[in-house]
Amino acid sequence: MSFLERAKKGEISEEMKAVATDEDVTPEFVQRGVASGRIVIPVTHYRNIRPVGIGEGLRTKVNASIGTSSDIVDVDAEVEKAIIAEKAGADTLMELSTGGDFLDIRRRVCNATSLSVGSVPLYQAFIEAVRRYGAVVHMREDDLFRVTEEQAKLGTNFMAIHTGINQITVERLRKQGRHGGLCSRGGAFMTAWMIHNGKENPLYSEFDYLLEILKKHDVTLSMGNGMRAGAIHDATDRAQIQELIINSELSDQAHEYGVQVIVEGPGHVPMDEIEANVILMKRMSGNKPFYMLGPLVTDIAPGMDHMVAAIGASISAAHGADFICYVTPAEHLALPNMEDVKTGVMSARLAAHIGDMIKYGKRNRDLEMGHARKNLDWKRMYELALNPELAKEVRADRMPEDREVCTMCGDYCALKIVRETFHF
Ligand code: SF4
Repeated sequence: MSFLERAKKGEISEEMKAVATDEDVTPEFVQRGVASGRIVIPVTHYRNIRPVGIGEGLRTKVNASIGTSSDIVDVDAEVEKAIIAEKAGADTLMELSTGGDFLDIRRRVCNATSLSVGSVPLYQAFIEAVRRYGAVVHMREDDLFRVTEEQAKLGTNFMAIHTGINQITVERLRKQGRHGGLCSRGGAFMTAWMIHNGKENPLYSEFDYLLEILKKHDVTLSMGNGMRAGAIHDATDRAQIQELIINSELSDQAHEYGVQVIVEGPGHVPMDEIEANVILMKRMSGNKPFYMLGPLVTDIAPGMDHMVAAIGASISAAHGADFICYVTPAEHLALPNMEDVKTGVMSARLAAHIGDMIKYGKRNRDLEMGHARKNLDWKRMYELALNPELAKEVRADRMPEDREVCTMCGDYCALKIVRETFHF
């Protein structure tokens, strides 16, 4: 029986208890959420991990994506990035290598982290096709399923799989065109393969078989957003909504079959369309966990896309997105380095916190920070800070003579004057 099937029967697992403790909710709340499909806990038979709950009623979670590229294959660096991401507070990790020895990289990253690890099996299948047969379009259908099973056995907890691209989706894309094309690598690979071969997407036509593999290894299905727009002018277009409709239907099938499921959303969306995207997705999928890449709310800030995505992510989380994929300052420019990974995680965590302040009215930590500031209690301020290391570093770099205040106002510290004048 799968993890979801046991939840449907009312079983409360150790993972559910751990998530409940972490989130300050009851184990029954988590069990009911998993059973209804509104919460997922990506598990694996093959690795000991720190369980994480994603979905309704739980803190908004942050994913950090790492992995080699065809140009840069430095496995030690990717392992180091995994460690940095976990230390910076990422909740999950996606290992998205597209260069080097896929299985070796996955094994080493999985061994280096206690986080749930996600993957996109389609990358490996298509890139191996390039290596073996000379082109993406020569990928053999069986390879998609073989790679999925292989990656599951390495301890992959969740997989982004592009199930919602079918002939209708591709036709919608072809008819309407796009200003910025597709920015999903998986979407681009699969669309090229389908058009070249004149065939249906095997992940759609053989969805039953895909579910069998996922259930056997208890992998959580994250329904990939293959029609992800690469420009905000293409947001919420027909191809994207078509894919969402298909994924929503398939997500019901996966849930009924006993496979935990997340639905992925877009990555480039102007601020005034974010709420509609979240409502549409939640409504169509029966409130399954919603995974968003930010979204980026403008296209003109390369080098600052971690900030652009944090603005979008705070709004999407406030409206109900459950899971945020980080964006680093290197987005659209280069493979992220270690500093980029850390900055990306911190920015996404900030966005998730701001979103939860609205989604759940969670304000206690902010209230405590207000009190600590009023009292000039620096120790407490660091304890409450999202990034205590950074806060300490900045202050230590410019310490005042009067250690009670800071060098911004020095002798004229407003807080100190108020404290000495008023007694509240
Ligand atoms: S010196 Fe100015 S900025 Fe610094 S703690 Fe006091 S009021 Fe705040």
